[in-house]
Amino acid sequence: MNITVLGGLKEIGGNKILVEHKGTRILLDFGMSLSQAGKYYSEFLQPRKCALLTDFFEFGLLPQIKGIYREDYLSHMNMAKEEKEVDGVFITHAHADHAQYIHFLRFDIPVYCTRATEVILRVLEETGSNPLSDLVTACEAFTFYTNKKGRQSRVTRKKTDFVHVRDIEVMEAYQGVKVGSLEVELVPVDHSLPGACGYIVHSDEGNLVYTGDIRFHGSNQELSKEFVKRAKAAEPRWLLSEGTRMESTERDSEEGVKRKIAGFIADSKELVFVEHPIMDLDRVTSIFEAAKENNRHFVVNLKLAYLITELGDLSPFALDEVEILVPRKSWGLIGKEGIDSKLVEQDYSVWERSFINRENCITYRELRRNPAKYVVSMSLWELNQLTDIKPSSDAIWIKSSCEPFCDEMELDEERKRNWLEHFKIKEYFAHASGHASGDEIRAMVKEINPEVLIPIHTEHPELF
Ligand SMILES: [Zn+2]
Ligand SMILES: [Zn+2]
Repeated sequence: MNITVLGGLKEIGGNKILVEHKGTRILLDFGMSLSQAGKYYSEFLQPRKCALLTDFFEFGLLPQIKGIYREDYLSHMNMAKEEKEVDGVFITHAHADHAQYIHFLRFDIPVYCTRATEVILRVLEETGSNPLSDLVTACEAFTFYTNKKGRQSRVTRKKTDFVHVRDIEVMEAYQGVKVGSLEVELVPVDHSLPGACGYIVHSDEGNLVYTGDIRFHGSNQELSKEFVKRAKAAEPRWLLSEGTRMESTERDSEEGVKRKIAGFIADSKELVFVEHPIMDLDRVTSIFEAAKENNRHFVVNLKLAYLITELGDLSPFALDEVEILVPRKSWGLIGKEGIDSKLVEQDYSVWERSFINRENCITYRELRRNPAKYVVSMSLWELNQLTDIKPSSDAIWIKSSCEPFCDEMELDEERKRNWLEHFKIKEYFAHASGHASGDEIRAMVKEINPEVLIPIHTEHPELF
């Protein structure tokens, strides 16, 4: 078996691993390296669509290997047509550093993942303004068609003939799938979003275990323990292990985060805001339960409402159990008397419209009237609603997400502090990582006991 780490070595994320065995080739994850991409691009210096592949090759943001990239890009960027040379890509979870670059893959390469991962990728695609969508469906780019007037038009997503549905193969927990000479088994793990898994790749030359991103302190910690058991039983020759927090000995606890948030809420007599990673349903559940313990309603934003709906039975609670905050956007017509609902709808994206007229919808007016009744999920991108909500100086903000790790995030954080200072809102902190500590990783590696260890998703491979 040949294992080539194409991304994720000596850095956190951007995992792309090519596994070759007797003519079979698979990829494990195909993610974006945030640190590498951030070296050349920013919010205001975006990659150009017309030269995405060539520009990304130039900066080493994508590996130059044959037979994996989408044909519309290859031909538009004057590169030779290629035959498909990869039999499948196995995605561990829907975080961008593991899944974002599916965007670049040929439409006929099967993408294997869990059902929750498929749902999250779809939600990201449908709600995002991200130019690198095309995760579950892909629209043929740089293509023209002849319109009704007999002239040439550019293809957009509205021309459904040109939209391809990717071959997403949803796998069940502990299911194995045969791909050529390999058998790949999906093994769920605990991480900071639903549907995370690792893989065990079985071959006649030995087995390979890949952890994906893993932790042992979330509400699904039993899954990670079972993962270690199965990985050990596979007597692997190779172990690809993540090591995000190798330098840390601190054991985190999601249960501890919930207790802390519940405590902050109990001490507050005013509105409580919580900032959290939107896709982290484990955290969302902690906040939901902490609110409930304090007889408060949890208020979600439209995106979270959509995610909960799409996850269906995979979500730990139903949309009816929370309130939905409908923000004033665009013309800000929501809640105005005597305005046709069709006109109000136009303030919102198409996917948002089914969530603005439900019985459990509220607006800033209700938050102003009854601040002590609610715990509100709020991101840095929704701070502009504070001028509508007009929170009192006794309102609190709980930051339940990771510390900024790049300059852009530092600036966002500083901007948030300005907003909070303006409204005299006090900030509190409660967070647990999505990753196991160094000690836990070392114990896991010892237990699995591979012949060869390949550290990945870490800035400190020397600590293994
Ligand atoms: Zn990651
Ligand atoms: Zn992750």
